[in-house]
Amino acid sequence: MLEAASLLAHAGHQKDTQTGAVVPAIQLSSTFARDEMGEPYAADRIYARDQSDNSEQVEAVICELEGGAATRLFGSGMAAATALVQTLRPQEHLVIPTVMYWTLRNWMVDFCQQWNIDLSFYDSDDPAHLAQVLGNKKAHMVWVESPANPTWQVVDIAAAAALAHDNGAQLVVDATVMTPLLCQPLRLGADYVFHSATKYLNGHSDVVAGLVTCAQEDARWQRVTAARANAGSILHPLASWLLLRGMRTLAIRVERASANAMAFARHFEGHPQVVMVQYPGLPSHPHYEIAQRQFTGGFGGMLSIRFRGGRERTATIMGRLQLMVRATSLGGTESLVEHRALIEGPESLVPDDLLRFSMGIENVQDLIADLEQALIN
Ligand code: PLP
Repeated sequence: MLEAASLLAHAGHQKDTQTGAVVPAIQLSSTFARDEMGEPYAADRIYARDQSDNSEQVEAVICELEGGAATRLFGSGMAAATALVQTLRPQEHLVIPTVMYWTLRNWMVDFCQQWNIDLSFYDSDDPAHLAQVLGNKKAHMVWVESPANPTWQVVDIAAAAALAHDNGAQLVVDATVMTPLLCQPLRLGADYVFHSATKYLNGHSDVVAGLVTCAQEDARWQRVTAARANAGSILHPLASWLLLRGMRTLAIRVERASANAMAFARHFEGHPQVVMVQYPGLPSHPHYEIAQRQFTGGFGGMLSIRFRGGRERTATIMGRLQLMVRATSLGGTESLVEHRALIEGPESLVPDDLLRFSMGIENVQDLIADLEQALIN
């Protein structure tokens, strides 16, 4: 097998025998003709609600990178994640982290209430807590987000998979922040890996997409694929084509964003106006040891900084930034900054002196200079 960077650089490339085109065509047809006998000309080509050459090209690359059995591409990360969680039945038990992507967490709380699904929380800051929660009651699905948004707690996926399996549950990992380059949860024992492909995989802040990959095509997987087919939540071919184009540069973008995050984190750790820098690549991070063991080739491009002076001062600092863009999301070429407590509202568990940074691929000295000028009184 090729190295991941080589596989990605050629993602979807083929030689078109008629034209010699290297880049795949975009197949926009919503319907597919049948022969005189009424048979489709190509198997799996009947109707585009759940069939697309362009999404299959993305799925093939991701499935190989993850070491999975099958992958499905969805019209958003939320569409993919909710399809997975909606496979749970009434009276089953879902276990999720206290700190995770806020919109998904809120949706899960609401969904479990409506459908009479038991929901328990574990603290991913404390590696023993998941064992405790699972010890209390049989679970069906354990959700891990690692590193967790926006505190970047790192979960030991191999240990979580063993705990979940001992309990008879399946482990799902949201690995959006690490990408399949820095962490492959299926190889660590997870049953499902999920990505918001809107982030690093696409990488250019111009496509919303999601991916689910399974370790085995089990009964849950059949329900996930049926959910996409019935809801028609497949990604449109144009967007799938753009996503595949973005993925070809994933390796160099992730390498650069990780290097920028590390340099940025090191520069501001210990700064007189900084309470703490939360980045799993710093030895001061409580889960540095797990991150070192689990991540392959970098610690990712996401970090958070807590500033002295509370919410008002933090908001002022954010308002003064000139290069980094104040916007939600992550994983694009441009650096983004967000005050998560403000965005999440009064229920938020995020400290209000925290800014979340998604490091882009700019020159890191420009990024450091941007925050330095914002910190001048
Ligand atoms: N998971 C994580 C970690 C995210 O950051 C996001 C979006 O911000 C999602 C899932 C949801 O993905 P999407 O926005 O593509 O629906």
